[in-house]
Amino acid sequence: MNLLVLGGAGYIGSHFVKLATELKHNVIVVDNLLTGHKESVNKKAKFYKGDIRDRIFLDKVFKENNIDACIHFAASSLVGESMKNPVKYFDNNVTGTIILLEMMAKYDVKKIVFSSSAATYGQHDKMPITEDYETKPTNPYGETKLFMEKMMKWSDLAYGIKYVSLRYFNVAGASIDSSIGEDHRPETHLIPIVLQVPLEKREYITIFGDDYKTKDGTCIRDYIHVEDLVDAHIKALNYLAKGNNSEVFNLGTETGYSNKEIVETARTVTKHPVPMKLGNRRPGDPDKLVATYKKAEKILGWTPTKDIKAIISSAWNFHKKHPNGFEE
Ligand code: UDP
Repeated sequence: MNLLVLGGAGYIGSHFVKLATELKHNVIVVDNLLTGHKESVNKKAKFYKGDIRDRIFLDKVFKENNIDACIHFAASSLVGESMKNPVKYFDNNVTGTIILLEMMAKYDVKKIVFSSSAATYGQHDKMPITEDYETKPTNPYGETKLFMEKMMKWSDLAYGIKYVSLRYFNVAGASIDSSIGEDHRPETHLIPIVLQVPLEKREYITIFGDDYKTKDGTCIRDYIHVEDLVDAHIKALNYLAKGNNSEVFNLGTETGYSNKEIVETARTVTKHPVPMKLGNRRPGDPDKLVATYKKAEKILGWTPTKDIKAIISSAWNFHKKHPNGFEE
């Protein structure tokens, strides 16, 4: 298939591009490189530098390529930043998706696999979360992802664009061959930040709050390996290629780990003491987010294959091999 990957130079996008090119798809990448890295994009992919909010640019990309399907990773994705600057999130995520859907309708592209988020669910007490849980985001990031899902729903009805929305839980880890991995500037995600301690880039890890309603008081998240995650995108594409209806799926592992447990696992993997300090809560954080993936298993035939130790080990191998990320 001719696949247009929006945000293909980002952390998750680049892992998708790697897999899709290995599977012999013809991959076209669009990325504004504000947070992505050109070096992380597989050389077999065709690359366009530009912003999906730029209508003239995106029109040219659609005109020059006979696109069969879009895989949409291009978005701002930080909970904390979205609380401080919600308008940036509505602009980048919602406006970008409006223009993308407009181009898909114009060029008659009828399939899209879309990065949604566990943040669409907000605060719930009963875990694991199924896809029919109420969506009530506690932060602007989750709100924009929900908005994007709603735009897809109405675009399906109006233009017949079929979508699969994948609600990611916490994505982590790096490619098993350590060629690509996570490199955010600045880094805000728990696992890469914890690993900065044994990498001697920071002295200790600060855990944001220990008075949540969880077993040890720290937030609980469900971590999924980035290669398992991108495999689900290929399965979602195949599902759409068979002419199936639009669907929403959770992607997680049904296992939650507290922030303290993540630090503990990182200590085991790296054999480093990883000192920990307690900080204030980070606004917008729900107590617990754990997914059930039964729907993806039943309909897409997808299951996660890597546990938390394998996830942290793969990230650790990547960071040891590339201590300065993609800067080298
Ligand atoms: N977290 C933390 N210290 C850090 C970074 C993150 O305690 O330096 C916590 C964060 O508050 C949340 C969890 O780790 O409870 C996962 O955060 P992350 O940003 O990795 O992912 P999110 O759940 O926001 O998608």
